[in-house]
Amino acid sequence: MDSVRTRFAPSPTGFLHLGSARTALFNWAYARSQGGEFLLRIEDTDLDRSQEEYELAVIEGMEWLGLDWDGEIVRQSERRARHIEATQTLLDTGHAYRCQCSRESVEERKKRDVAAGGPGTYDGRCRDLELGPDCGEHTVRLKLPLEGLIGWEDSVFGSSGQDASQLGDAIIQRSDGTPLYNLAVVVDDIDMQITHVIRGADHQANSVLQMALYDALGAPRPVMAHVPLIVDGAGKKLSKRRNNVSVQQFREEGYLHEALDNWIVRLGWSQGDNEIFTLEDIGRVFSLEGVGRSPAQADIAKLDWLNQHYIKSLTSDDLFERVRPHLERVAGGPVEDSPSLRRLLDLLRERSSTLVEMAELARWQLQDELEYDEKAVKKHLRPVALPLLESLLTAMQALPEWNETALATVFDEVAEAQGGIKLGKLAQPVRVAVTGGPNSPGIFETLEVLGRETSVRRIEQGIAIVRERSEST
Ligand code: GLU
Repeated sequence: MDSVRTRFAPSPTGFLHLGSARTALFNWAYARSQGGEFLLRIEDTDLDRSQEEYELAVIEGMEWLGLDWDGEIVRQSERRARHIEATQTLLDTGHAYRCQCSRESVEERKKRDVAAGGPGTYDGRCRDLELGPDCGEHTVRLKLPLEGLIGWEDSVFGSSGQDASQLGDAIIQRSDGTPLYNLAVVVDDIDMQITHVIRGADHQANSVLQMALYDALGAPRPVMAHVPLIVDGAGKKLSKRRNNVSVQQFREEGYLHEALDNWIVRLGWSQGDNEIFTLEDIGRVFSLEGVGRSPAQADIAKLDWLNQHYIKSLTSDDLFERVRPHLERVAGGPVEDSPSLRRLLDLLRERSSTLVEMAELARWQLQDELEYDEKAVKKHLRPVALPLLESLLTAMQALPEWNETALATVFDEVAEAQGGIKLGKLAQPVRVAVTGGPNSPGIFETLEVLGRETSVRRIEQGIAIVRERSEST
């Protein structure tokens, strides 16, 4: 068998959204798993809507996801001469004809046909007129079979297609001489020797016409695999407007490319009960048999779970480099690498589903001035906390060493001296005083990471807050 060649053919009219990213990933994965090639074609013929900015965004998104393609990028707009040539071949071989019907007259007749209970398709008025190139303004239509199924055996959906009587001859070249989308796609796929077309189920209707074009051009048809729609948590079709769907956005929100690849590949594809797939795994074990027919649910909780899994498995250096831009945003400036920051990031792996969340949880370490959580202050920095904070402060200042073990001993001693109170009664006011909020890693770890100077300063500040609050009430 010929070696497998797949392609991803984005139209650069927007950012790389989830559906396209999945198409790209499936095509990449299938080619890689078969030892074949994966090509990239930019479908930029709609010049009004195509923008270079989006083309770059699509490419950047693919690179970030780790989807490398083979050979040069093909640009559809540069292949116009080939598209026109193919149309000419179809005219020469009698598979296409020139049509002089105006759009209005066709619409008018279609309407009448529908009113009479017909399918409302083009009636083939010019089909047998054999109009020549000098017939004046004209479109070119593909001569479709008049009856029978135009069908194919889809790798995912099985027997697919449409009855020819429901179709009517389709325009493949406009009256201004520009080729239509379906013609361009098929000619490009033939020239690029694509063996497998894997794309969203929303292209099924195009595929009918495309199969007829392969036949008319005398080219072998590729294997077709349509992948099911992606729906949101509520089962609604994913919409660019309603849902966060661009790869760029996920990246900005602090998702790792490993997690996104893993999540995306599971949108419609499965292999037993396995949930964890690295990109390398995907490129090895992906198969079209594993693609199901039912809509794929984009479950963000699953993505969060995967993201945390991959966050936990990053090396310290890798984690630091990736979270750094998010830390700098929170810090409002450059962030220095330090053993205590590394330690904190390590502690936060367990508590963060995204890098953004991790940076937020590190806020107290990144900013000089604390931002206090009002509710936590009200609850924990009350007059009862005053003697606790004060005696802890004194004991802490006398500590010869500043580390977790020493701090644990001090806390025990103070708790004991304060009448045997529970550790939590002591830890929460301290936590709010030093981090501004009620959540942080273990209190001894938090204090160790923060260092003596800052911890002491913030506990003093906490004491001042308690005093101020008790005076004002
Ligand atoms: N350019 C089309 C799109 O972005 C894809 C065409 C195809 O895969 O055949 O939806």
